[in-house]
Amino acid sequence: MKKGLVVITGASSGFGSEIAKIFNKDGYPLLLLGRRIEKIKELPLNFDNVLVEKVDVTDISAFDSAIKKAEEIYGKTDLLVNNAGIMLLGNVMAQDPIEWKNMLDTNVLGVLNGTKIVLEDMKNRHHGTIINMSSIAGFKAFVNHAAYVASKFGVHGLSETIRQEVSGSGVRISLVAPGAAETELLTHVTDQNALSDYNDWKKSMGGITLDPVHVAESVKFIYDMPQEVNIREIDIAATLQDA
Ligand code: NDP
Repeated sequence: MKKGLVVITGASSGFGSEIAKIFNKDGYPLLLLGRRIEKIKELPLNFDNVLVEKVDVTDISAFDSAIKKAEEIYGKTDLLVNNAGIMLLGNVMAQDPIEWKNMLDTNVLGVLNGTKIVLEDMKNRHHGTIINMSSIAGFKAFVNHAAYVASKFGVHGLSETIRQEVSGSGVRISLVAPGAAETELLTHVTDQNALSDYNDWKKSMGGITLDPVHVAESVKFIYDMPQEVNIREIDIAATLQDA
């Protein structure tokens, strides 16, 4: 079993917390990042080999310092999970452009920031994996999701581009594209009409959306494959999800 450093962004809730739990259970040294570090510190983890750092992924220098600090303790990053993201629903005519900027900065530039910090070293070592959290909204459109869809199409596009650029060095770039799941993602939506439309759509699935545990299992499955095998993408949604 590989035991290199695993870096997870957005570990304070949702998918990120579940990914942290699954790798912690297997004894991996972890760097867990987020802005609400008190929430990370409350997770049911064995904190013996876990470093928690308050990092906003849009701040590349804070992001870089946290990774350098963890690498001094645990060695080089073998897996980066670029999971942090936000979804602010709304249609383009009604939505405040600040919300578009926040989504693109976090969901796209945050992923590029993390990638830039670890990639060169992974290339030089001919080893390493980056798994980006995209979405079903990274390859198909959803009403009231224009800027979010733009950000997640961005994640799909940059992941495949970088995969092609580094595949010859033995570095794996992969992504997970989940459907609707029960996390804190909807708690930041300010457009109440868009929010209620989304909740109505979820109800049409019989109220059974994806359990974040299975997203974490997908990340682990991708990582656990031998380094010479790159599962480029996993699309995962509740069976009852129609779109
Ligand atoms: P949550 O809101 O539960 O978790 C989002 C995480 O991202 C939090 O830990 C949050 O931490 C972190 N985060 C947000 N902005 C920043 C930032 N600027 N810097 C650092 N961390 C940040 O939602 P999910 O778990 O659902 O979201 C995780 C990923 O999954 C996102 O990329 C999302 O787009 C994607 N996704 C979610 C789906 C769903 O239905 N839930 C479906 C498809 C994809 P903190 O606030 O502490 O900084």
